[in-house]
Amino acid sequence: MSVADTRFKPVVALVGRTNVGKSTLFNRLTRSRAALVANISGLTRDRHYGEGRVGDYPYIVVDTGGFEPVATRGILVEMARQTAQAIAESDVVIFLVDGREGINAHDHEIARLLRKSGQRVLLAVNKAEGMRDHAGLAQFHELGLGEPHPISAAHGDGVSALADEALAPLLAEQAAEAAGPDSGAAGEEGAPDHRIKLAIAGRPNVGKSTLINTLVGEERVIAYDLPGTTRDAIEIEFERGDRRYTLIDTAGLRRRGKVFETVEKFSVIKTLQAIEAANVVLLLIDASDGISDQDAHIAGFITETGRALVVGLNKWDAIDREQREWVQREYERKLRFLSFARVLNLSALKGQGVGPVLKAVDAAHAAAFAKLSTPKLTRTLQAAVEQQPPPRKGIFRPKMRYAHQGGQNPPRIIIHGNALDAVPDSYRRYLEGQFREAFKLAGTPLSVEFKTSH
Ligand code: GDP
Ligand code: GDP
Repeated sequence: MSVADTRFKPVVALVGRTNVGKSTLFNRLTRSRAALVANISGLTRDRHYGEGRVGDYPYIVVDTGGFEPVATRGILVEMARQTAQAIAESDVVIFLVDGREGINAHDHEIARLLRKSGQRVLLAVNKAEGMRDHAGLAQFHELGLGEPHPISAAHGDGVSALADEALAPLLAEQAAEAAGPDSGAAGEEGAPDHRIKLAIAGRPNVGKSTLINTLVGEERVIAYDLPGTTRDAIEIEFERGDRRYTLIDTAGLRRRGKVFETVEKFSVIKTLQAIEAANVVLLLIDASDGISDQDAHIAGFITETGRALVVGLNKWDAIDREQREWVQREYERKLRFLSFARVLNLSALKGQGVGPVLKAVDAAHAAAFAKLSTPKLTRTLQAAVEQQPPPRKGIFRPKMRYAHQGGQNPPRIIIHGNALDAVPDSYRRYLEGQFREAFKLAGTPLSVEFKTSH
């Protein structure tokens, strides 16, 4: 295999003090993603991480929230710490200042930290709509971060030019690679009998490294490549039976002797990148600890990316019957939106239940890449509509004519017809359930979309 045929998506961090317009800019940059996300049921959107696109190239946007670098206590310190981590892990920083208020002490302080970070920084002067001659921009040179870029996050002025400039060097790299003779990505799509790209995700201490060592330690390690740059995913290959897997690292693993050890603490960005780079995600939960908000949070990311999913309740060996029942109830209550995924218990430490987990991974992968024929999709659609027609809206009755497959991982089913704008979400979910049953699509989210012809 090539050294790193999986690349992480580039990361853009939005940094700036409160109220300069970070979340407004975030929403504008990530808007393209909303359509697909809206078609996958039960999502918990996280407003800090999203996907943007320049042309066909996706990138990850991180809104670092507030940044109060002079804070010394409590929650503000925690925020500053997370912001510092996001800056360190990003490929480029967009530093926002307020073009109406001008520079203040906080801006200077943040600018100083950014200069020290050594990261590439673009300075964006927001709220610049209607600023005629941009004479007011000159003062921002003082920050020592190069040319100020006037934008209006609220109105969109200058935003795509800014994104283009931020991403240009990173995308040029990618484009050069895609044009090269050894472009792994292109032929990858589609075939369930190829390697399964698997990410093992979960909060710290749930047992990710233990499981990886259990999986890899027992099997022949085929290749282990150290990455060339921070955006090369770290991959670990292993085989089980006749299946080949590529583990996409989420935990910052390094090889040491025969086993792998974690060298970095938990990183949301790394987790996100790995989830995005995988076909199937195994979400590990520490069953001895119950289901935490952070588990639900990571689960939300996974559904948002549309990746296939298996959930492993780990450390099953460490809990008694009463606790087991409690965890299962907690799961039902807090992770109901993962109803499409199989849940299995296991002990990574003792190697119990690992085989069934991998079987579920295989099944989820097959479902994510299933080929759904147009005739069968259309028959299923017609039967579903017959059994329960979509509700009228005013004088219009939505009319569904046929369905075809629009994509894989997750499978996208596009329904064509008339007056489909009015179809309520509950009916979309009903159809999703019917398709899921007809095609036995367990383990993957499913996107059902409507296309109205007028
Ligand atoms: P954050 O705290 O940095 O995330 O800032 P927000 O995105 O919440 O924006 C703070 C305020 O600035 C809100 O009232 C926004 O409506 C406003 N705002 C954001 N971008 C613009 C802009 O381009 N022009 C103007 N005039 N107001 C903006
Ligand atoms: P990571 O941070 O998710 O990579 O978690 P680790 O693999 O480092 O595991 C954290 C701790 O949980 C270690 O002390 C492991 O020995 C322990 N652990 C992991 N899996 C199991 C398991 O299946 N059963 C029990 N009892 N302990 C486990």
